[in-house]
Amino acid sequence: MNMTCKVLLLLIFTTLLYLPLSDSAYCLSMPGDTEYYRELRHKMVEAQILARGVKDERVLKAMRDVPRHLFVPERSRGSAYRDHPLAIGYGQTISQPYIVALMTELLKPKEDQVALEVGTGSGYQAAVLGQIVQSVYTIEIIPPLGASAEKRITEIGYKNIHVKIADGYFGWKEHAPFDCVIVTAASDHVPPPLITQLKNGGRMVIPVGHPFQVQHLMLVTKSTEGEIQMRNILPVRFVPFIREWK
Ligand code: SAH
Repeated sequence: MNMTCKVLLLLIFTTLLYLPLSDSAYCLSMPGDTEYYRELRHKMVEAQILARGVKDERVLKAMRDVPRHLFVPERSRGSAYRDHPLAIGYGQTISQPYIVALMTELLKPKEDQVALEVGTGSGYQAAVLGQIVQSVYTIEIIPPLGASAEKRITEIGYKNIHVKIADGYFGWKEHAPFDCVIVTAASDHVPPPLITQLKNGGRMVIPVGHPFQVQHLMLVTKSTEGEIQMRNILPVRFVPFIREWK
């Protein structure tokens, strides 16, 4: 083997060695993700999220990193990064990307915090939040949706998201209190157990209003003394909060 050959082989070897360590290679190594979808995600963040005023860098990074197309039915993958919600089966929807980003930003999540989500659906919102906080406990009332979300989350490799199938009205007492609570189905009132399980100094976002009408996205904050305040953020339309599934 002549010298040029040896140098070439060494070059190929070192490139292969370092490739898995680089950021983009890491993203592309996520099963089912590709450069094509990564580009769509970056465009989605620019046009739909940054443009509408979401500024939290951690939220923007999470929205760029989580492969939304893997959370929607295969036939809808081509529409995963469009500016609207999508059907995920059983009459439920994955929220519009902007709403996911806005709700996450409103929680002011931090890396040492624990979050509760009511309404796992596809698991996408939990995955986005899970990129920022220490752990996410998420509850889904429709068993097949909860089961497929859990499978998806495990397959993609998220280790800090825990799914339970139950009525989320009662929260998840064993892991309370929570720094952040996010409800992704519209209820006509804020479930009192969720307020109880919110930590002093914690934040909750919840759509409040009647099913199939315009609801209000509310930000509920609990002061360090335990005092509750509610702020109306914007009109939204979510699927209804249900108490049982038949
Ligand atoms: N966060 C989801 C969006 C889900 S849509 C995502 O990122 O894909 C709202 C979800 O709330 C539905 O899956 C619905 O079944 C669920 N849901 C409605 N009422 C519920 C309740 N009482 N407890 C738990 N989940 C509930």
